[in-house]
Amino acid sequence: MKKIALIAHDNLKQTMVEWVKTHRQKLSTFELYATGTTGQRIEDSSKLPVKKYKSGPLGGDQQIGAAIAEGRIDVVIFFWDPMAPHPHDVDVKALLRIAVVYDVPMACNKASADLLIQSL
Ligand code: PGA
Repeated sequence: MKKIALIAHDNLKQTMVEWVKTHRQKLSTFELYATGTTGQRIEDSSKLPVKKYKSGPLGGDQQIGAAIAEGRIDVVIFFWDPMAPHPHDVDVKALLRIAVVYDVPMACNKASADLLIQSL
């Protein structure tokens, strides 16, 4: 079963919720992982089970990065916000980097996420 990590910054959480709704059937065949708040929003709206890490600013991005390094995440959907500063910006950058290091497929906007999920 493929393991997919879902992360969305605050201004993009609704976009993530709607994206999950659109792809709910496909996503129901994956193991879903997410940062805390994103995961809760997805679980509440879709009723799909989500394994939740800590909230992003409290280390959730780093936990997902570690999971990637340990080979426990196959795909990342990360709707990061290009228009707002974040206290955990260095963690965000580290997660983007580690996904590239391990050649994990990663989509950072809805259009890319649509293509990625269709190809799985
Ligand atoms: P959150 O974390 O899902 O807990 O809000 C995401 C982030 O800010 O990186």
